[in-house]
Amino acid sequence: MQTIEALSHRLSSYLQPEQINLVKRAYFFAEQAHDGQMRRSGEAYITHPLAVAHILATMHLDHQSLMAAMLHDVIEDTPVAKSSLAEQFGDTVAELVDGVSKLTQMNFETQAEKQAENFQKMALAMARDIRVILVKLADRLHNMRTLGVMPAEKKRRIAKETLEIYAPIAHRLGMNDMRLEFEDRGFYAMYPLRATRLQAALKTARGNRKELVEKIQGAIEKRLDHEKILTLVVGREKHIYSIYQKMRSKKKFFKEIMDVYAFRIIVEDIDTCYRVLGSIHNLYKPVVSEFKDYIAIPKANGYQSLHTILVGMHGVPIEVQIRTKEMDEMANSGIAAHFLYKSDNDEPLGSTHLRAREWIKGLLEMQQHAGDPLEFIENVKIDLFPDEVYVFTPKGRIVELSGGATAVDFAYAVHTDIGNTCVACRINGRIAPLSQSLESGQKVSIITADNGQPNPHWLNFVSSGKARSAIRHFLKSQRHHESIALGRRMLGKALADFHINIDEISDEQQQTLIDKSGASSFERLLEEIGLGSRIAYAVARLLQTDVSTNANSRNIYSPLTIESADSMMISFARCCRPIPGDPIIGHISTGKGLVVHLDSCNNIDDQRHKPENINQVNWAQIVTGEFPVDILVEVESERGIVASLANRITEQSANIENINVDERDAHNSVIKLCIGVTNRVHLAHIMRRIKAMHAVIKVTRARN
Ligand code: MN
Repeated sequence: MQTIEALSHRLSSYLQPEQINLVKRAYFFAEQAHDGQMRRSGEAYITHPLAVAHILATMHLDHQSLMAAMLHDVIEDTPVAKSSLAEQFGDTVAELVDGVSKLTQMNFETQAEKQAENFQKMALAMARDIRVILVKLADRLHNMRTLGVMPAEKKRRIAKETLEIYAPIAHRLGMNDMRLEFEDRGFYAMYPLRATRLQAALKTARGNRKELVEKIQGAIEKRLDHEKILTLVVGREKHIYSIYQKMRSKKKFFKEIMDVYAFRIIVEDIDTCYRVLGSIHNLYKPVVSEFKDYIAIPKANGYQSLHTILVGMHGVPIEVQIRTKEMDEMANSGIAAHFLYKSDNDEPLGSTHLRAREWIKGLLEMQQHAGDPLEFIENVKIDLFPDEVYVFTPKGRIVELSGGATAVDFAYAVHTDIGNTCVACRINGRIAPLSQSLESGQKVSIITADNGQPNPHWLNFVSSGKARSAIRHFLKSQRHHESIALGRRMLGKALADFHINIDEISDEQQQTLIDKSGASSFERLLEEIGLGSRIAYAVARLLQTDVSTNANSRNIYSPLTIESADSMMISFARCCRPIPGDPIIGHISTGKGLVVHLDSCNNIDDQRHKPENINQVNWAQIVTGEFPVDILVEVESERGIVASLANRITEQSANIENINVDERDAHNSVIKLCIGVTNRVHLAHIMRRIKAMHAVIKVTRARN
């Protein structure tokens, strides 16, 4: 059983007596505050914060973190307020406790939304003080260690959250030991049966492997000894959760995974790492493509090591990691190693610490861009599972990207402006598609254009959170501008009926519009009109003092002109698919803006007697872009008919978006095509060409 005495004994190895006293004071304060409260296991509540403090003490965390650990459930579970903690223990400790409490309030229900929000909180808390998350992780670790007493349902929920959020965070912060414990405990709680079975299989396999492991280890040690290199060689056992994941994600059999023999070699300094690499490559043949130098280029979480795979006796694959003692400590404790091995001479923050800060900074940036918590967590999740690719800028700078990253991700990683204006790229000097996945070692240069802008299509292939959030942000603001422009055009038409020119309205008139409409600004008012949540005519009328001179009702909506197929705020109804030349009518739909239908469309019938929702629209003389239209072709079944039909259509420079063949009987089929045309004349031309084919019986344009 852990006691406060045992803790202060442990602390005396690295804290000052007065600091230890402060920790003790926090302990007694918490003991009193939680007096009478029990854990589910029946123990006094104080055992929990004490255990959390013990975990942090093994990480050599400072006295303020330990005090916060003691007090971490006080604000949440007792009547003590943050302000009285501040009085008692100072602002820093109170802030830490408050930060942890806010994270504790995350009673994650299964809703993704809630989880996302909590993750956001976590990022913010980390940004303020990284110690908040360390206390929180220790809290979670103790809860996982004592999970046994929880009801099954709750157990699973906590385990799931641990696997999905806490383990990745620990990983991202380089805290490997903690991550492994989270994963294995989470796995056991989540899938007790699978875990037990896997554990048993693992035990048998270990027995069978033992002999060969010792043989290989002996051979390596002998070789290094011969070269007079002082090292520590250890066999590495894989953890059950990572075996499970490999079996699932790589579709491998347990045996295949276990057939790999893994070792770690720990040496004094970096030089020796490379010497060891040389001599073991001499001992067994390396698999060239599998060598990775994470010493020269550390992983995103600061991890450093040399990785190589060798082919041993009888062809068994041998995985070897080579690193210094420091790197090993860093690999196990990550950001916590900063506290654990802090030297007295106030050295600058370790690289892991700096990287963690960079990461958090990035998180916050993403959060500012993200519209809602779900979008944010989606971006963060991508970032939490780094599988890095390293590429070079034209000037030779290394850019680190997540696996599957494309040139667009690269462009955004270099600078948001470059991402926003990129139009093409060169990979190793050759023009390549922006969507191509990058590989480590490639040199990438981005070609930008002043008028370039993000394409919504990019969202289908970008892989980094940064690119995704920047593209969404851009599109959102573009939509905003477009709806203002449309709103302005609509209001302009409406005002014209009152003989007012929108370009000439005075500030006073603008103010009148704002006041009478209750909109927050003139721009906002225009946007609302553009989005269809306000009626242009009704707004225009607000400037009309004498209602009796109301323009005659047939004219109140002057036609709006459509100039292009590609406008974010004008859309074309899918039910009737209008094309230039068709008589049309506009329907103002909330949130979607103006939707254009065929004048004869049945779907619009209900709306016709609500003139406030209807807008007259006209096609411009020349309309740019391509409009989808459905046609039905009845044919006599004949070999290759679909192909020759498709040929005819593309000959007329129309795109086929969709083909559907419906066989009526052995002799007849009806082929439904969706084709992109520029206007009615274009369509008529195509239909004539189709009718001329001898197998074709009938061609019609499909309408609902
Ligand atoms: Mn707790």
